[in-house]
Amino acid sequence: MSQREKNPIWQYFDKSITETSKAVCKICSKSYSLGSHEPKKQTLHGLKLHLSKFNYKEYRQVLKRLSELNDFKNEAKLKRTDLTYHCNKRAQFSRLLFRQSFQI
Ligand SMILES: [Zn+2]
Repeated sequence: MSQREKNPIWQYFDKSITETSKAVCKICSKSYSLGSHEPKKQTLHGLKLHLSKFNYKEYRQVLKRLSELNDFKNEAKLKRTDLTYHCNKRAQFSRLLFRQSFQI
């Protein structure tokens, strides 16, 4: 997954073309530091801080989207556990059938 997809904050920022360590706010066109040129070491903290101070409406949208993504993740986790449960049940059932057919 790319960083752009990972965080909804990228809806409101563009990576700076001239400086790889910076991002530009799409709303007020100000550039903010990501802390590093290396994508792995970059932080979105400055961008979040900027939105929360200057573009609060957008910041709320980001928070909302983030919590939706979390809900989605939790739901996916629940579904997975559910599936494991059913698989286990099915395994038990087929063991039972196996035993019955051989009358063990
Ligand atoms: Zn801004």
